Amino acid sequence: MFTRHPGGLRLLSVHAHPDDESSKGAATLARYAAEGVDVLVATCTGGERGSVLNPAMDRPEVRADIARVRREEMAAAREILGVRQQFLGFVDSGMPGEGEPLPEGCFAAQPVELAAEPLVALIREFRPQVVITYDETGGYPHPDHVMTHRVTVAAVEAAADPERHPGLGGPWQVAKLYYHLALSRAWFQALHEAMTERGLRSEMGELLAGWPDTPPALATTTRIACAEQFAVRDAAMLAHATQVQPGVAFMAHPRDIEREVWPTEDYHLARSLAPAPGAGEVETDLFAGLRAGVGAG
Ligand SMILES: [Zn+2]
Repeated sequence: MFTRHPGGLRLLSVHAHPDDESSKGAATLARYAAEGVDVLVATCTGGERGSVLNPAMDRPEVRADIARVRREEMAAAREILGVRQQFLGFVDSGMPGEGEPLPEGCFAAQPVELAAEPLVALIREFRPQVVITYDETGGYPHPDHVMTHRVTVAAVEAAADPERHPGLGGPWQVAKLYYHLALSRAWFQALHEAMTERGLRSEMGELLAGWPDTPPALATTTRIACAEQFAVRDAAMLAHATQVQPGVAFMAHPRDIEREVWPTEDYHLARSLAPAPGAGEVETDLFAGLRAGVGAG
């Protein structure tokens, strides 16, 4: 199914729902795609249980056909980012209320080993050197995000093991696994301060006030300069029209300020077969340590 460029660099980003690829790490994907890296987004679920978050799109015919609408939005975002994308075929778990059980058959209710199988097959076929996903917390406590983390870690491990799932293709060892550090408290703080200093109204103060300023659990090992791709990221975000309201929330802060105070997307290198950066050292390339030798075969 995939035409692989022999010896090329390949990046796989695993997400829970359509729109997650555009809100977390999208400028990074657009940058690598523009540089000729083969970039693939794997989307675990169809986002069928997501609410319509944009009042302009909250219409009965949209709600009635949300799975199709979100597939079309995803196709548009994929084109804008210049990447490939594949759904893994699971059903959105929704965001259950406190004490509410998960809906039967949903993604987060699957056994991890079983749910990892489509991703094992995809990793063995696409052969990415680098994989990106969420950390253990999911980045935010949606059951599908936590499940995406578990499934990705399980699939990366299983894909490398020739003894496991021999029917799903030949083994492939992913060289580096990264976790997103997107939408961190420090990011909100930097934007909030920059806007306030310039006499602009920031909507982020309330959020920051309720967010304890404790040191982040995961170190920033990697910063990818991608300010030039913020416009592409924003266009991809807006393509998910049911999920994003123009000018509100993430779309509200001035982009020139963001380019100035936070021109990178940041990551935590969780596993690496390449020499890891030293303590306090920050990588500027997801493929750092992997470029030599790639291209030979
Ligand atoms: Zn999501």
